[in-house]
Amino acid sequence: MNIFFPKEHNNETRFSLTGETAEKFLKKDINLYIEKTIQVQDTKLKNLIENKSIEAVERDQGLDSANIICSLNKLELEDIAKIKPETLVISFLDPFNENQLIEELKNKSISSISMELIPRTTRAQKMDALSSQANLAGYSAVIIASNLLEKALPMMMTAAGTISPSKVFVVGVGVAGLQAIATAKRLGARVEAFDTRPVVEDQVKSLGARFVKIDLGDTEETNQGYAKALTEEQIQKQQEGMKKICASSDIVITTAQVFGRPAPKIITSEMVEAMQPGSVIVDMAVSSGGNVEGSKNGETVEINGVKIIGNENLPGEVPTHSSQVYANNVFNLIDEFWNDDDASFNFDLEDEILSNCLVTHQGNFINSSVKERNK
Ligand code: NAD
Repeated sequence: MNIFFPKEHNNETRFSLTGETAEKFLKKDINLYIEKTIQVQDTKLKNLIENKSIEAVERDQGLDSANIICSLNKLELEDIAKIKPETLVISFLDPFNENQLIEELKNKSISSISMELIPRTTRAQKMDALSSQANLAGYSAVIIASNLLEKALPMMMTAAGTISPSKVFVVGVGVAGLQAIATAKRLGARVEAFDTRPVVEDQVKSLGARFVKIDLGDTEETNQGYAKALTEEQIQKQQEGMKKICASSDIVITTAQVFGRPAPKIITSEMVEAMQPGSVIVDMAVSSGGNVEGSKNGETVEINGVKIIGNENLPGEVPTHSSQVYANNVFNLIDEFWNDDDASFNFDLEDEILSNCLVTHQGNFINSSVKERNK
């Protein structure tokens, strides 16, 4: 059994193999291949390559000879052309937007697992890459925003005067939002938060932040715990309810996502303009359409002195830890379905985790939503 880890695209700082997970794969007698041009930072991983426990190969050779290919970012179409049928490809795949890519995978009879489709169940937690990355993204969002803010976050009582704590407003309290709240609290900020799912109120309070209440009428969540999309009227009510809080906040962090849809636009230009110059917004939903009017993917823009950060790879700001947890997610996934007797990956289509995250297998779409959308 051969597993290949190709180089990620040039702007990616994370990697899907660490020295620690490599050792666990090697214990299972799996052959590991890594793309030659990768600049490895992880000392343990470097040693394993130097002593030839892991073989460094050209990209084409790795793609062609692998039984499993693991990466963070989806492979390119030209890579797919070089992969043998029946190979298993594991990465974030963005399967609801990458129609051509998943069609190619299906047509070539390549099996593919989309890490964003790992279900949010207790058994699958150790493989949940959305959560492992969102957690670090929430942390990075606060660190980056506080670096750009021209103020300190905590209250300080000094002989030279009292500094009041900065105000942080977190919109959307999923995994990233909760970590953003916790990080901002640790740094001493005064934190407020809002989510359309009222169930998160207790979680917000338990972190010592204030939960902002806005009456939007019925807001439902899916059985996976995801928010459902709001109506136009509800979005307007939400904007109305958040206006004053945004205007008085030093940092606004937006994380609002609706699974499988573009992110809701909840901060208007008018709301940005009402904020104090020097304030900072982090639009954590920038790569799925953006929560903030005027935010730009991969850029920090300034509107009326308000900086809007559109960093689309916040977990990549702390690559050692985001690689560590992603590599663990990937190892745990392979380990869960590993058949020691014949050293193979067990494609148990009855399994609730695999039937969800498997996008293509043996020339068919497997995940039910992907199947439905590609009828
Ligand atoms: P997400 O990234 O899909 O969305 C982020 C947050 O945005 C969510 O809390 C959502 O309610 C909120 N949101 C959507 N529209 C909004 C709007 N208009 N205004 C304000 N907020 C809005 O969420 P996520 O971090 O992936 O988590 C989704 C759910 O899954 C949560 O309930 C989380 O606790 C749950 N979860 C469960 C497990 C598990 O049980 N294993 C693991 C991870 C997450």
